[in-house]
Amino acid sequence: MEKTIALLEPANLTFIVTDACNYDCVYCPQKKENLYMNAPLIEKALDFFYPFLKKDRCFITFYGGEPLLAFDQIKHTVLYIGGKNKNHEKDIHFSMTTNGSLLDDDCIEFLNQHQFSLMLSFDGLAHEIGRQTQSFDAMVEIIKDMRHYPGIELSTNSVFTPETVEYLSLSIQSIIKLGIKEPKLTLSTVNEWTDVDLLKLNDQLNDMRDFLVAHYRETGAIPLSDFRPKEKDKKSMFGCAGAKDRLAITPEGKLWGCFLFSDFFKDKTGTLEYQKYFLGRLEDFIENYQAILEKQVPNYQSLYQGSFYTDESFCFACEEVEECKTCPVNAALSGSILLGKIPLWICKINKLMKTVRGEFLKHIQITSEGSA
Ligand code: SF4
Ligand code: SF4
Repeated sequence: MEKTIALLEPANLTFIVTDACNYDCVYCPQKKENLYMNAPLIEKALDFFYPFLKKDRCFITFYGGEPLLAFDQIKHTVLYIGGKNKNHEKDIHFSMTTNGSLLDDDCIEFLNQHQFSLMLSFDGLAHEIGRQTQSFDAMVEIIKDMRHYPGIELSTNSVFTPETVEYLSLSIQSIIKLGIKEPKLTLSTVNEWTDVDLLKLNDQLNDMRDFLVAHYRETGAIPLSDFRPKEKDKKSMFGCAGAKDRLAITPEGKLWGCFLFSDFFKDKTGTLEYQKYFLGRLEDFIENYQAILEKQVPNYQSLYQGSFYTDESFCFACEEVEECKTCPVNAALSGSILLGKIPLWICKINKLMKTVRGEFLKHIQITSEGSA
């Protein structure tokens, strides 16, 4: 089988090992069918994709539902690809996003041994509002405990909704104070943010900005990646990386350019949109991957900020276009179709984030392109 390096060289291969979850977070857009990946599918996927994986640095990512419900499948994947890569032909890393509730000693030892990057879904002070009760203290204990496992690179993802936005600033502050170096801040796009919600968000972001300024002056660090200055030469327009440098495989063996597409299209099978992005079932992909990629990759490539629009304007005509990074699937979650239409309230959030980031950089006297 001939390899098409230009088209198939994933730097990230995501295994959605299950779509089941033991939590029921209010903002979770996933549709759960309690499906689990099986060992033959894992082996077939790795047998095929291993030769194509990006050589320098690539990630095998585990995603759910809650992936640790399928810990046996995760172990099998890690050990099976370890057998293939015993000569370290590829620089393979493992990563996972988890709600943390199933992290027992055996599991943590395994993740430590295989040097996982672990992203904990942790909403700080809002944790028990959108998730399970009595889970906040457990999460803090997990974060403290992880200091004893140097093989695990720990980060957090905190999701805020209009209902929990008033906890945003203090939550991010407390997570940074717990020692998390790269916390991720996510604003849920499942439900609309009203103008009143956006005013609250503005207050919270300003409060967080003041904390980040003080933190920078004390430590020299900017923990939130979205607040860092861009490297001068890397000023370019955001585009969806789906199917370009990443692929995702579902528990039933369906292939997508990114795990978010699999969630989004779960109840839209057979629609015209579905057909534009679906990369086929694994066995069909193995047979026809060149033709499938040639046909579908341009559809993913057409999802870039300059092609998006709102009810009021086109992004290409907006002066913020190089600052905005709108995931088209997230933008479509609140009900629109996946054509790059951005609800006005997401556009307003983007502008708010840009303003606060600009003010932050001004306070610490760095221009947005990185020079002091
Ligand atoms: S823009 Fe969204 S859908 Fe595209 S690769 Fe990024 S996260 Fe996935
Ligand atoms: S601020 Fe709004 S209109 Fe401008 S690029 Fe971003 S989403 Fe598009």
